[in-house]
Amino acid sequence: MSAVLSAYDDVITRYAPVIGLETHVELGTVSKMFCGCSTSFGGEPNTQVCPVCLGLPGALPVANAGAIEATIRIGLALNCSIASWCRFARKNYFYPDMPKNFQISQYDEPLCTDGWVDVRLAGVVHRIEIERVHLEEDTGKSLHVGGATGRIHGATHSLVDFNRAGIPLVEIVTKPVAGTGAQAPEVARAYVTELRDILRTLGVSDVRMEQGSLRCDVNTSLSTVDSEVWGTRTETKNVNSLRSVERAVRSEMIRQAAVLDAGERVIQETRHFHENSGESTAGRSKEEATDYRYFPEPDLVPLAPAAEWIEQLRGTLPELPSTRRQRLQASWNLSDPEMDALANAGALDLIEATVAAGAPAEDARKWWLGDLSRRANEAGLELGELPVTPAQVAQLAGLVTAGRVNDKLARQALSGVLAGEGSPEEVVAARGLEVVSDTGALGTAVDEAIAAAPDIAAKVRGGKTAAAGALVGAVMTATRGQADARVVRELILARLTQN
Ligand SMILES: [Zn+2]
Repeated sequence: MSAVLSAYDDVITRYAPVIGLETHVELGTVSKMFCGCSTSFGGEPNTQVCPVCLGLPGALPVANAGAIEATIRIGLALNCSIASWCRFARKNYFYPDMPKNFQISQYDEPLCTDGWVDVRLAGVVHRIEIERVHLEEDTGKSLHVGGATGRIHGATHSLVDFNRAGIPLVEIVTKPVAGTGAQAPEVARAYVTELRDILRTLGVSDVRMEQGSLRCDVNTSLSTVDSEVWGTRTETKNVNSLRSVERAVRSEMIRQAAVLDAGERVIQETRHFHENSGESTAGRSKEEATDYRYFPEPDLVPLAPAAEWIEQLRGTLPELPSTRRQRLQASWNLSDPEMDALANAGALDLIEATVAAGAPAEDARKWWLGDLSRRANEAGLELGELPVTPAQVAQLAGLVTAGRVNDKLARQALSGVLAGEGSPEEVVAARGLEVVSDTGALGTAVDEAIAAAPDIAAKVRGGKTAAAGALVGAVMTATRGQADARVVRELILARLTQN
């Protein structure tokens, strides 16, 4: 390809992106979708299998009621309509890790349709419309052995593990999302983040992207900014982290722009995202639509959830993340941008726990978004990975409020906590960080500061009390920041202005 990659900023001046996301979620049910086999992760290969999930002749599936219930709850949380009657369908294709040579899925009769989820980014609300939420079964897993990369190229042989085959899988498909412009990569990430939080709150999945229980395919297309017609889309697979969702959209926009700039056409295809390079490579062409020869699954009865059951499930929905954020924002008295900054930093749970441990919300926010965010950045860690607990942050804030340490000493105490020296109380005691406010102990330092700067002392004596600041500073330096500045100031003024 002769095209030169354009910079992202240049791309968005000329092209408008349309994105779409297909998310697969492995449900956290104890047993598989159509049999009683265990769904636990990490078992010895092919130990969690039976005639049903191996697709042996004559074996008959029975739908897992818990999985249907979880899917309806997901649909309700995403503001979907729930079908009063729908069917499973056979999706026929050959793949080595799919034992039956068809997958039981849903086709034209999904369980949940036409929902939405709002994501807020820099104060702007983007409504992401949900096309469908349907239920299907996962495939097994191929392991390619003998090569350097673990991929089929260069492998000497391949093994198949069917433990995953038949685990209930929910597919959540958005409608195309247009009009997000330069923010498209961040909107994609914010949507998957929100979806993950909703699923976690519902308790239907452990939503661990690194273990594949939440998997994302990202569709991207570009059209010129003045065009009404959407461009050809590609589907990027293997996007295994929230950060990569954003990177995948961004890199695909840059790649497609370069193709279009070179006068070539974007090929409709799947692409594989590579975590290390942040680039994708071409996969399977989708220029010709695959004919999956769908037909209603003859071994399963239709799904017909009763309206009363659906309403009963609606009543079991927990407080969802958006409602919780609104509640906390009101109780902490934060503006929209302040709340967004806090949510984007992943600090919501930490601040809530710090407040619960007794700190004022303002102090909790100041510590987590200030010093602790900076230290997390420097260490390349998430905020929650720092070796400090919300209770310790609350204790530190309490020491400042009580006047036992000032901000500077508190930061030193925090360094001690992060270094594993104990709680803030323990670090303050061990390092001798407590503020000195005893007038007797400070008197000598005050006298020395006055003696060392007779000209300033004269100014203060002459009525220029503002000049006392320099003397306070000298005492603070002499006491390594541990003096109570208010007390020092009072002592200086008492000595110089009262006779
Ligand atoms: Zn089984």
